Amino acid sequence: MTRNKIHNITKECQSLESELSKYKLCASLIPEKSFYANLRKVLTKKKWDLIRNFVYERDSYKCSICGRSGVKLEAHENWKYGYINSIQKLHDIKSLCRMCHLNKHLGLASILAREDKLDYTKIVEHWCKTNNEELTKFGDYEEKVYKLWYLRNKFDWKIVDKNNKEIFKDLNYNGLIESIKQIGK
Ligand SMILES: [Zn+2]
Repeated sequence: MTRNKIHNITKECQSLESELSKYKLCASLIPEKSFYANLRKVLTKKKWDLIRNFVYERDSYKCSICGRSGVKLEAHENWKYGYINSIQKLHDIKSLCRMCHLNKHLGLASILAREDKLDYTKIVEHWCKTNNEELTKFGDYEEKVYKLWYLRNKFDWKIVDKNNKEIFKDLNYNGLIESIKQIGK
């Protein structure tokens, strides 16, 4: 991409990010080329469980978005995107309930719904309730989410941790744990 094109796409992404930031529960679709880059894949189950349990305890065993407790939690990797150097940075790992987690991965939720494995109306209802928004707003929101995803797909993301170490090239488990513990400080 030319510098000018990167500049224009960056501005468009930032404007969409800002419009979407008003939603407490907002999808964050993983760019296509980063689809299979997730911590679960590179860590042993034991190590991933250690991280998850640390995160659940830190979040007081509640969904960090809708606040529900007493439900099964899942650990969600929260990424930030830096457009200038195409950096996809692990910003945090959060405890989420299943409904909030599926809302984060709205693309996956719609695939599961198409395969009859999920009721998409439940996802939309949870979005409305958590954000205190009307159902009529969902279409416009969804369009912005996919537009942002489409634009982010144009970059070749370099996936790093808080210390700018490439997570999937040279995984340093202790460094990763430290970087996760630093979050929020
Ligand atoms: Zn939730």
